[in-house]
Amino acid sequence: MFTKARHLLHTYYGYNDFRPGQEAILGSIFNGQHTMGIMPTGGGKSVCYQLPSLVLDGLTIVISPLIALMKDQVDEIQELGISATYLNSSLSFEEMQERLSDVQAGKYSLLYLAPERLTAPHFLARIQSMPVSLVAIDEAHCLSQWGHDFRPSYLDIPHFINQLQSEPVILALTATATPTVADDVCKSLGIPAGNIVKTGFARDNLTFSVIKGQDRDAYIQNYIENNQNESGIIYATTRKEVERIAQRLKTKGFNAAYYHGGMEANERAESQEAFVYDEINVMVATNAFGMGINKSNVRYVIHAQIPRTMEAYYQEAGRAGRDGENSDCILLFSPQDIQIQQYLLEQSQLDEPRKANEFRKLREMVNYCHTESCLQAYILDYFGEANPIDCKRCLHCTDQRNVIDVTKDAQIVLSCIKRMKERFGKTIIAQVLTGSGNQKIKDLRFDQLSTYGLMKGESQKAIVAFIDFLTAHRYLTLTQGQYPVLQLSEKSVAILKGEQKVMKKEDATAKAQVTDDDPL
Ligand code: ADP
Repeated sequence: MFTKARHLLHTYYGYNDFRPGQEAILGSIFNGQHTMGIMPTGGGKSVCYQLPSLVLDGLTIVISPLIALMKDQVDEIQELGISATYLNSSLSFEEMQERLSDVQAGKYSLLYLAPERLTAPHFLARIQSMPVSLVAIDEAHCLSQWGHDFRPSYLDIPHFINQLQSEPVILALTATATPTVADDVCKSLGIPAGNIVKTGFARDNLTFSVIKGQDRDAYIQNYIENNQNESGIIYATTRKEVERIAQRLKTKGFNAAYYHGGMEANERAESQEAFVYDEINVMVATNAFGMGINKSNVRYVIHAQIPRTMEAYYQEAGRAGRDGENSDCILLFSPQDIQIQQYLLEQSQLDEPRKANEFRKLREMVNYCHTESCLQAYILDYFGEANPIDCKRCLHCTDQRNVIDVTKDAQIVLSCIKRMKERFGKTIIAQVLTGSGNQKIKDLRFDQLSTYGLMKGESQKAIVAFIDFLTAHRYLTLTQGQYPVLQLSEKSVAILKGEQKVMKKEDATAKAQVTDDDPL
């Protein structure tokens, strides 16, 4: 079957070789094994179910949440010469019946389905008896409550598969799965843990940066001026901010458009097409923009505001450079933006455990902004890659500043936290260390502590930034919950005992750059 698959890869797609992971996934499917494939955006996941649909007898079903894109996807596949169709809520009842009859008659080998279809009784009754050989689940992380894009309709998938009379092979595909999410997805679908094919997440052509303490508008304007002819995406959290940035860019004469969930469907489609067909170069958007958009020459993705999770960040940033050319992924960090994310989380309808989980993820995202290590390595570590190597390209890898020993300062901060019984946040800790005369400090008798005023010469902001650095590097941990407090970590003990050193880039830039207290 393999030789045939390779041959088909060449005849249908014109490719000579498989991309990393594709061969292993196909091999596993052809062996009849349920499989999970975790590959980065642009890694070539679609081939992993399109090719089997050509090789295997019977029908391949692809479950995808991207209803708006199904028509385009199916058109593209048909152009390749693969007989494919789709069923989703955009079709009338009659159209749906007609297509189902064609599927039943064996006219198609590939059927795209929206998850909402899975429980429609009429549909189930007809599809149940068809010979289905493969069920591929795209964006499979949507199955997990611990993922960043949980979709309740995905929970119907296992039941749907069980009701099929044939026993299809299951293939779960995603670009973003932490080990917890992957585990969850595998359990729900009965995929053995050993059948996860995971390719490296590193994207060698992406250069990551976190920019602090600079004026957002000025930075964006300057960046676009220097990259006038390139395509790029600017992500912001709120619709209002998206419109504001886009409007500002347009007034400055840039070729920009915007996209968010509050626009009419036709306005969104117009905006998206203008970007995909290079009529505009800058797309300013909320996270509603991008899923499934196949534009390969995006040269930069700037996050004007911090996203809520690393999963969301890597997925959005990863839309840059799908053609393999060098591209920039820049995050503009401003502490106030964390408050927006916290507020949105507070307002969300999530139950308590999920909310706590989302707060934890937001904290990991904030840590990304405060780390001084390789940014790509931080991302890979987050996604469970063991001992990732430094990328040598990101802002931190190319930072030429000297590294100095700050163990003593770290010891002072850690012992102060210990003396405050590990029950407080960074603002009050910084106040104690600077020897603030604040009434609350007196009431709590923290002015009696031996660490009170030990860092008198420093500003509170500088100490807060130093605590952020210690947290990002896991010398401290933040507790879960809405009002996290700082506690010592496993790493702190070695520091306090003098068994391990804390090294930090010289120069107070990081400290001076912090414009305000960030709330986490
Ligand atoms: P994903 O779904 O993982 O984001 P796609 O399936 O859309 O990625 O593939 C991304 C791009 O890579 C597409 O243009 C696709 O045609 C191309 N591609 C896939 N497999 C190969 C291959 N073996 N060799 C070269 N290009 C490939």
